[in-house]
Amino acid sequence: MTAKYFDYVIVGAGIVGLTVASELKRRQPAASVAILEKETAPGMHASGRNSGVMHCGIYYGSETLKAKVCADGARRMIEFAEVEGIAVNRCGKVILATSEEQLPTVEKLLRNAQENQIEAERIDMHQLNEIEPYAAHGVAAIYCPSTAVIDSAAIVQRIREKLINQGVQFFFDCAFQGREKSRNIKTAHGDIVYGFLINCAGAYADAIAKSFGIGDEYALVPFKGIYWKLSQAANHKVRANIYPVPDVSMPFLGVHLTRVISGDVYVGPTAIPAFGRENYGLIQGMNLAESLEIGYQLVGMYLRNENNFRKLAHVEMGKYNKKNFLAAAQKLMPSLKEADMVPTPKVGIRPQLVNTRTRKLEMDYILVITDDSLHVMNAISPAFTSSLAFAELIVDKIC
Ligand SMILES: Cc1cc2nc3c(=O)[nH]c(=O)nc-3n(C[C@H](O)[C@H](O)[C@H](O)COP(=O)(O)OP(=O)(O)OC[C@H]3O[C@@H](n4cnc5c(N)ncnc54)[C@H](O)[C@@H]3O)c2cc1C
Repeated sequence: MTAKYFDYVIVGAGIVGLTVASELKRRQPAASVAILEKETAPGMHASGRNSGVMHCGIYYGSETLKAKVCADGARRMIEFAEVEGIAVNRCGKVILATSEEQLPTVEKLLRNAQENQIEAERIDMHQLNEIEPYAAHGVAAIYCPSTAVIDSAAIVQRIREKLINQGVQFFFDCAFQGREKSRNIKTAHGDIVYGFLINCAGAYADAIAKSFGIGDEYALVPFKGIYWKLSQAANHKVRANIYPVPDVSMPFLGVHLTRVISGDVYVGPTAIPAFGRENYGLIQGMNLAESLEIGYQLVGMYLRNENNFRKLAHVEMGKYNKKNFLAAAQKLMPSLKEADMVPTPKVGIRPQLVNTRTRKLEMDYILVITDDSLHVMNAISPAFTSSLAFAELIVDKIC
């Protein structure tokens, strides 16, 4: 049987793979494009399990790739949703400092906003109370009016429909299984020959990159994001988004309160070290070889205490206990009670890259290019927000 040929093969039908396909078709309508996805539908991993917040980009220093694409990506994604009739709520967000030690970070965030031309203002506690009446009386706060929440599942579906109409071929249940030789890969549907391959495989992007002989300096450590939901009785306490001031040495934003597009209010997510790239349950999604490899990295990070990892591990593991989770939420909203938080099956995994040479968590997106492939690594938050602008930057590198 002769192998199928495509000008472009994209691995992964998450938001990054979908938007890259869309950008390729915009620039080269006649090009043949295929998307390989190991699941039966698009967006079954990070792109279907996130908070749906369109971040304004205030967290990222102007030198980063994230800063280059986040604010622009958010503007475009919100506009896309509005044009396509997909639910989006331009609700804004507050970032609340609850201790004096967070004040330098508040200043840093405001500087980022200025450098990246993001609308953000320092507000006093009276103004905070008008925006979010139940928020804690903190020591400082920032208001970001351009933050929005979006129906991310509907976005994924709409982009998929548009790509099908443009002739992009989807192969579901079709895992990338390895590289045979240059421009020839093995998949669950047989061999495919390609002109150029773009690896957008999220939690498996590093593994695929390694089959191209690159990315040896990276190891992947997954972090599990679990959520609680506010009960009907407590739902009214959050109008939009209440975030803590993050630890900027970490790529996580901390437990926050978000009113998502359905009207539910989620509390979370955690950043609990996980033992599998798709370890959504306690043991679901774990396999021995992968768990041993991840366990090796986690133990090393714990022993060396890089990025203050020991504290992170203790604090985050503690959030399996509802009381500790509640305590994190109460810093933002002291009136919350245990009964206000009800369980939800919502859970996601953040596939975080660790650089084994520098021994640091990678904070930014990483693009690695070869003569026949490009690998999108570390597409962590806010890659959903960024995706439309990020895809443009990716495609700039290949055509
Ligand atoms: C809990 C949580 C909350 C978040 N909140 C936000 C937020 O509010 N705002 C925001 O902007 N971002 C948020 N993010 C981040 C955002 O969701 C991700 O950065 C983004 O979805 C990454 O998209 P992706 O396409 O790279 O990865 P994915 O969506 O994971 O897609 C990768 C795809 O590749 C497929 N794949 C993997 N291996 C193979 C293989 N061998 N063969 C074929 N297919 C393969 C997978 O099945 C998957 O479908 C959050 C993430 C989490 C986990």
